[in-house]
Amino acid sequence: MHNAHAHVPPPVNEPVLSYAPGTPERATLRTQLDAMAREVVDAPLVIDGRQVRTGKLGTAVMPHAHEHVLARFHLAGPAEVQAAVDAALRAQRDWASLPQTARSAVFLRAAELLATRYRPILNGATMLGQSKTPFQAEIDAACELIDFYRFNVHFAERILAEQPVSSPGTWNFVDARPLEGFVFAVSPFNFTSIAGNLPTAPAILGNTVVWKPASTAVYSAHFLMQLLLEAGLPPGVINLVYGSGAQVGDAVLASPHLAGIHFTGSTGVFQGMWKTVGENIARYRTYPRLVGETGGKDFIFAHESADVDALAVAIVRGAFEFQGQKCSAASRVYLPSTIAPAVRERVVAMIREIKVGDVRDFSTFMGAVIDRGAFRDHAGYIEHARKDGSTILAGGTYDDKVGYFVQPTLVETPDPRSRLMSEEIFGPVLTWYVYDARDIDGALTLCDTTSPYALTGAVFARDRTFVEKASSALRHAAGNFYVNDKPTGAVVGQQPFGGARASGTNDKAGSLWNLVRWVSPRSIKENLVPPTSWRYPYLAPDA
Ligand code: NAD
Repeated sequence: MHNAHAHVPPPVNEPVLSYAPGTPERATLRTQLDAMAREVVDAPLVIDGRQVRTGKLGTAVMPHAHEHVLARFHLAGPAEVQAAVDAALRAQRDWASLPQTARSAVFLRAAELLATRYRPILNGATMLGQSKTPFQAEIDAACELIDFYRFNVHFAERILAEQPVSSPGTWNFVDARPLEGFVFAVSPFNFTSIAGNLPTAPAILGNTVVWKPASTAVYSAHFLMQLLLEAGLPPGVINLVYGSGAQVGDAVLASPHLAGIHFTGSTGVFQGMWKTVGENIARYRTYPRLVGETGGKDFIFAHESADVDALAVAIVRGAFEFQGQKCSAASRVYLPSTIAPAVRERVVAMIREIKVGDVRDFSTFMGAVIDRGAFRDHAGYIEHARKDGSTILAGGTYDDKVGYFVQPTLVETPDPRSRLMSEEIFGPVLTWYVYDARDIDGALTLCDTTSPYALTGAVFARDRTFVEKASSALRHAAGNFYVNDKPTGAVVGQQPFGGARASGTNDKAGSLWNLVRWVSPRSIKENLVPPTSWRYPYLAPDA
């Protein structure tokens, strides 16, 4: 025990390693990838700190070599889901009554482990299981998750320090209680850092959690759980269950002790969960906090004053890194007629140089898309483009014999409100529309009103007056707005991340705003001079 009013070390962003030829990290990563590819992992559920094997198995494969099995994972049935909920509820009192320093230390320790020994493990798992290149894995599984851990404990400390004033004779303070009940964390396949953040952000503040990762990201989730346990996370604080979203989800949402949902994934799934919560509302002990970051149809809007080279690079990196499977990936572009030919020439030339393939070959820029379902979706959009009057300027082919490979595809559409300009594709298919450069207001309105989403967006211009005009016209069109930069690559502590409209509750992952959702403040007033007479002075008779 101690009585220190301790401060967490000031957070700084984890430096991104380069993996350039000759670097030690490149050699270590190669060794790690070889070792992982030789083994088939048996991935149990982790409930109350114990490994649980049901024998009912799912399979994790490499998307870029889909015959290669990386892991067999145990699927939870109703009994295991209930056990996970019960374990979270049992663990709550002890976890919540630890001093904040003790809880924060677990995650600071996790950050250090991830920055060192676990770095190649999580990067390797993310490359093999989610088909990320070394750089894409490093900025996600290593750096962003380390940042989440280091910054979130700092934000927790700030929340605890946020206290009310006290009038004379009283002492007021706020007790930042965790939510009463458990939090359900449901994570997507596309970011290991998000999978790491969703269960831990509530846990930092004393909540206990049932965590269900995406079935296509079980391989990295398995190592994330090992990392947390090694960092000293007590049993039952985070309970890991694998299984079909609907089966696990419906059972968990039926618990009267559901206190919150921390979700990232598609809009449809989140809306379905919200509906179920609505139907169950009378049976919950408390109103569950619903925090969900969902889909996007992220834009780049170019003005004719834009730097054409910078714009072209942003389009290529923003649309095709990690196969366009970032929620923030550029998916629609508005190009002014005056510079469209120059941009077209540069972007098409760059796309032709992109190598798509097995991410273990470090000269690849793009790996495979996550699974057969995604592959079919993307192929469907490409075939749609062939039929709807659009022109495919680059790419347009796909092949799933060895891996789920979709070539980076650039589509020019004559219809600014086509499906390709409004629906989330979540793959390497970018569509642009060339607008009449004289009708800038009309083009801005199109950009603002074409899609239901509002996650990320970028404007490119050298004309400062235009930047201000666009910032104002598109104020609600993106929760993360970039000027002369690609719309991807938000950094924890620098660009709090999230969008509104159909893109989510905009609770900004990796920020104080998100952490606030995981406390249920209790106001405490102590009267230092309690009154001893019931009479107020005004009751006294006039003199
Ligand atoms: P998804 O919606 O298919 O799955 C997300 C999670 O929900 C998975 O764990 C899945 O098993 C689970 N799930 C599915 N049905 C469920 C149900 N009925 N009840 C409970 N859980 C259920 O999404 P995905 O394909 O893994 O990820 C891609 C999506 O995530 C895209 O739409 C992308 O835009 C979005 N995303 C958004 C952000 C953001 O910050 N806004 C970040 C990353 C990804």
